[in-house]
Amino acid sequence: MMLQQTQVDRVIPKYEEWVRKFPTFRALAKARPADVNRTWRPLGYNARPRRLHAIAREVVDRYDGALPSDEVTLRSFAGIGAYTAAAVQSFAFGLRAPIVDTNVARVLFRVFIGQSDRSSTTLQKHLWKVSAAVLPRRHVFDFNQALMDLGALVCVARKPQCSVCPMSAICQTYPPGPELKTRTQ
Ligand code: SF4
Repeated sequence: MMLQQTQVDRVIPKYEEWVRKFPTFRALAKARPADVNRTWRPLGYNARPRRLHAIAREVVDRYDGALPSDEVTLRSFAGIGAYTAAAVQSFAFGLRAPIVDTNVARVLFRVFIGQSDRSSTTLQKHLWKVSAAVLPRRHVFDFNQALMDLGALVCVARKPQCSVCPMSAICQTYPPGPELKTRTQ
């Protein structure tokens, strides 16, 4: 949740401070709102610490302090949408869950689709299906991390690094035209 709309290098020190102060859902649940908000600053988007606080309280009240791992229950918490639920399943519980964030969507779109209106709702839904279809049976944590890293470091929005990309042999966008080389996607 800290990484939503926020860069990794800004998140790391706050994440470490947050986990030090609130190492469990119980610790977060009983913290004072002012302390929660103070610990969050200066990350911004201040609805997020309030939501995390509310989630912690609900986890303690309804689930004895242990976050459930199933998608339906995760998505029943205010502030946990499709991506966050999938990321929690994949990265916290090691479950076989597909993820689609901005970087992953860009990679899947370029590799498997190539041309279309990427922002359309239909295509967004389709990308979730693609992400599920390419998911391996094992090592899902590593696979999803690698997909995110590929989008963050190689298949970047501007000037994708196709010459070093392991997907270039099957990529529907390779070789990229001049428009892709300069346009933000
Ligand atoms: S070949 Fe280029 S456009 Fe295709 S996935 Fe790799 S970096 Fe992205």
